[in-house]
Amino acid sequence: MVSPGSSDTDLDGIDIEALRARYAHERDRRTRSAQPRQYRSAAGEFGYYAKDPYIARLSREPVDDQVDALVIGAGFGGLLTGAALREAGLGSVRLVDEAGDVGGTWYWNRYPGIHCDIEASVYMPLLEEVGTTPSMRYAPGEEIRLHAVALAERYKLYEHALFQTRVTALTWRDDTQDWVATTDRGDRVRARFVVVSPGTLTQPKLPGIPGIETFRGHTFHTSRWDYAYTGGSAEGGLTGLRDRRVAVIGTGATGLQVVPHLGRDAGHLYVFQRTPSTVGVRANRPLDQEWFSAQKPGWQRERMNNFLAAVTGEPVPEDLIDDGWTRTARAQRTYLSGVTDASAPEEELLDARVMESLRDRVAEVVRDPATAEILKPWYRYMCKRPGFSDEYLETFNRPNVTLVDTADTGGVTRMTETGVVVGETEYAVDCVIFATGFDVGRSGVVTGALPVTGRGGQALLETWRGGPKTLHGFCSPGFPNLFHLGSMQNANSVNFVHILQQQAEHIGALVARALNVGAVRVEPREDDAVAWVRTIEEVSVDTRAFQAECTPGYYNGEGRTLPIRTFSPGPVAFHRLLGQWRETSIDDVLVVGE
Ligand code: NAP
Repeated sequence: MVSPGSSDTDLDGIDIEALRARYAHERDRRTRSAQPRQYRSAAGEFGYYAKDPYIARLSREPVDDQVDALVIGAGFGGLLTGAALREAGLGSVRLVDEAGDVGGTWYWNRYPGIHCDIEASVYMPLLEEVGTTPSMRYAPGEEIRLHAVALAERYKLYEHALFQTRVTALTWRDDTQDWVATTDRGDRVRARFVVVSPGTLTQPKLPGIPGIETFRGHTFHTSRWDYAYTGGSAEGGLTGLRDRRVAVIGTGATGLQVVPHLGRDAGHLYVFQRTPSTVGVRANRPLDQEWFSAQKPGWQRERMNNFLAAVTGEPVPEDLIDDGWTRTARAQRTYLSGVTDASAPEEELLDARVMESLRDRVAEVVRDPATAEILKPWYRYMCKRPGFSDEYLETFNRPNVTLVDTADTGGVTRMTETGVVVGETEYAVDCVIFATGFDVGRSGVVTGALPVTGRGGQALLETWRGGPKTLHGFCSPGFPNLFHLGSMQNANSVNFVHILQQQAEHIGALVARALNVGAVRVEPREDDAVAWVRTIEEVSVDTRAFQAECTPGYYNGEGRTLPIRTFSPGPVAFHRLLGQWRETSIDDVLVVGE
């Protein structure tokens, strides 16, 4: 077996031409047969999926008041910005979210087996500040959700929060130099600063399977897990499934986490797979509490920076995390930042060695050779989001678990009143669980779902007709004191919460400086924003050739390929750039008086 991340360039018997042909074949069998509508909306007759299974909808009177800052989105992005704004000296910070509480993705996703597959010490932000100690190296979802709650409490972000509420419009008032936000609850909130933190994978997606609406058994999406039906909890024990025939559709990062529990507890489990995920070693274990309490103040920041540098290609003297992410970092960079030329022979070889080792692992763990063959991933490593599990592959050794390969039919063929059909074969089931992921969200300010009117009555989408126009992805000319979080015109990483934390701190620094110098507006100059957009255009590496060779999935727009506009030198360089800019040019965006 070859070791992932090895820098040895010996071919080791890998026939690269044959491998390319195999990858193309595996891509084509999925692309050719893909159904016209791979996915459908979770609205309409499936409006159930938009509902909140955790907290009943509360009625309340509309709010009409004023706060210092309004933060739209109460996931980690909104929470971290809320914390940074409180640290910057703002008194009243109001979080608004459609969910019933804080936590974002960790609020909605509570399926059995849920964990974060990024080490808790670098994923869970502000551990030192909040005083949370994770129990496991890779923390369970509920622990992460409760950490989000603790973070909101620590920074007094519940005081003004509005949950189960959607902001419907933002309008700048020139006379009072503030924003007015309206909501679907009839609220009218005035705020000096507004932050939009929309999240990326928020809307559950259902497969576009013909006949899906005719199925008479039970169905639900993993992000709206129905424990009333299955019994048990996020820790398992799904006793309600003991005598049930259960189908799960989807084998992405979520599928990898739910399948071991379903296999353990269901009468019979059918796993419908279109494309196998890569399944690297997880080696989860209790966090060493002695090690944790021996850490010196500032340890988390150092560790987060180390992970970020390791996975994005910056030199690190020592890989502090040393796990499946950092060891395959070089293969990840081809997609994530485009820094690496994916077509370079040494990169292709390195990738081949990583994938070969993952296929070897399948053969070692899964006893039935035919099942093992179906579970082997045949594509370049970053064609799909890497997966990790200590239990997923073993599940297919259970006699009550059947793997159904749907690659040649481009996914499940259809659903009937009683079951799931692939080709000509019907699998009769009582329950179908959709582990089919989420729409890759774009901020409502970009889609138009959240109309924004700025200085002089100009509509944001009008001024962005040629595409978003921001300085560093944060703010725009004509739209004072309005800040965006997310992956627009900045840098990205697999540890997205760390990226959000850096963004939150930058926004906090801008607001602190504005308060310090008595500025009325934070607003970049037109030519600075135009120059930044040009910089992003120039430095973005075009990864479309790489994507075109990939099996379809959300990473490559289901095979259509996506232009990725990002600061390709990477997040470490981006953060350095922001730091320097704050030293020399922060006052360029401040308007003190007119
Ligand atoms: P996903 O990666 O989008 O996976 C959706 C799955 O549904 C895929 O396996 C897809 O097959 C399959 N599918 C869709 N339509 C189908 C059909 N008609 N027939 C058969 N299969 C069909 O969704 P996800 O697993 O929920 O993960 C989404 C993202 O959430 C992840 O990429 C990750 O960013 C995040 N996540 C993170 C963690 C964590 O630990 N940090 C855990 C869970 C999720 P194809 O692969 O062939 O398209």
